[in-house]
Formats: sequence, C-alpha cells, structure tokens
Amino acid sequence: MTREELMSALSGLRQAQIGNRRAPHKPLLVLWLLGRFVASGSTAVTYDDVEEPISRLINDFGPAVTNRSRARERAAMPFVHLERELWDVRDRDGNGMGPDVPERGSWLRTRGAQARLFPEVEVLLAEPGTLAAAARLLLEQHFTPALEGPICDAVGLDLADLDDTVVYLPTKKKQRTRRAGFAEEVLHAYAYACAFCGYDGALGRHPAGLEAAHVRWHNHDGPDEVHNGLALCSLHHTLFDLGVLGLQPDMRIQVSQLYVARSPAGQAVDALHGRPVATPRPGRPSVDVQFVQWHGQQVFKHPAASAA
Ligand SMILES: [Zn+2]
Repeated sequence: MTREELMSALSGLRQAQIGNRRAPHKPLLVLWLLGRFVASGSTAVTYDDVEEPISRLINDFGPAVTNRSRARERAAMPFVHLERELWDVRDRDGNGMGPDVPERGSWLRTRGAQARLFPEVEVLLAEPGTLAAAARLLLEQHFTPALEGPICDAVGLDLADLDDTVVYLPTKKKQRTRRAGFAEEVLHAYAYACAFCGYDGALGRHPAGLEAAHVRWHNHDGPDEVHNGLALCSLHHTLFDLGVLGLQPDMRIQVSQLYVARSPAGQAVDALHGRPVATPRPGRPSVDVQFVQWHGQQVFKHPAASAA
C-alpha cells in the first residue's frame, strides 16, 4: 500500500451511509485510532477497549441516536464494517472475522473480538506528515471547521503539533472548495450580528468572533449561498454544529434537552429556546426550509427542551 492508496481508502469511507443519515462512525473510529497510535505507537485494540469511547464519540459528534438501547454499543458498527483493506478483525483465537458478523456489542465481547490497522498502514502513519494529513482529510470530509478542535481534543490529536511535519498529499477525490464571497455575504445579510443572540462585537472595523455558518454542511452538499447560511457568534456556531442548538421550521431556535450548564453564562444558551432567529436584511433570502430540515435530521440532538 502506498500513501496515495491509504488516502484514497480513507476518503472512500465517505460512502458509509445509513439510509440518508449522516454516518461519521468509521471516520470517528479512525480518528480515535490515530490518537491512540500517536500516544502508544500501536492501533491494536479489543472491542472492549473501543466500545465506550467510540460510542461516546458517535453520540457526541454523530447524528442523534434513534434507538436509545443501542447508544452504548454504537461502536460495533464501525468496528465490524471498517474496510478490510485497512483493518484486520479477529476473534480471541486469532481467526479472521469478516464484515458480515453481527453488529452487536455483546456478541463481539463474548468472542473476544480484537482488531488492528494492518502493519503496512501503521508504517505509513509513522512517516512524517501522513497521520496529520489523514486526520485532516477525515475532519474536512465529515465535519465542520468549528468541530475540528472539539473532535481533536476528544481523540487526543494535536494537529498544530503534527502539522509541523505535514506533507500535503494529493487525494483522488477533489474537495469542493468554499466559495470566497460566502462569509462576507452572510455576515452582511445579518448586519454583522449573531442571528441567535445579537452579538455584534468588532475589533476596529472588523467583526470579531462572528462567523458564517452553513446550515446544511458544506461537505454534505450544502451550497455556499445566503439561503443556506447564518451569521453566528463563535460560541453559537460551535453549538449549532454540535447539534446543541437547532432550528424549527418556523425559524425558532431550539435547544437540545441533552445540553446541561450550571453557570449563568452556560444557562444563557437555554434561554435561547423558542426565540426567533434574526431575519436577514430586506432583499436577502432567509434560510431555506429544506436546509433547516437537513440540520434537524442530521445534526440536532433530539429531543428539544420542552418549554421556552
Ligand atoms: Zn450568538
């Protein structure tokens, strides 16, 4: 396997889809394995090792769980299905396991399932720059820029540190680049203020801590157009991408019931529940309802808080 083949295999994980639902299960497993590789020099794990941390990553950064009883074993899906060109799965006696075994935590645990990225993959990851490029590829394909920091923290990857040795690799699948004018058009449409809380801080003439958020994510076919954008402060942008904050079709803000905060600053987020999103300047389109629905299905952590 060459570096290019590794990157191509990783970019091919994108095909993992559960119906129409966003399915970042495999990328999250691989990102976690990269963090483990940096820390320990090996990706060898048992299913028991990964069940808790990977299920938690999927619950935190993936779409909301539909079957609550399965929330603790969401790790089983990527553990079983991660591509066999990368990932070698065996039972406790060393017999190979194909991708057709049950996606059940108890079943995998009983058999002592264990797995490891193939040695040739680990050799490539140990080369300067490859691991950071692999992590960047997965983050860019499956998440939003606002989520890169929280995900790297959760898996123990310090990309700034790893980037010192980055050699950027060409990937077969070309990333759609963001349209340059998008951020400025969105901020202008919302008068340089957060559409959720009204924050409008500036440093001199430049807005500070204000960002243009995609409602339907850029890497999930969301257009770089004002009708798919919201001006949000950095905090509300991150919470919106995490699914703590969402939108109802009537453009009222909803807060996830899973959100908890003790301080007045944290609880200020709860107070947004039920409030209307700011409307754009006259003549500028508000967010298209199809993108609001996408965010509700793919990102927002249901259920919403019950009362305003
Ligand atoms: Zn805000």
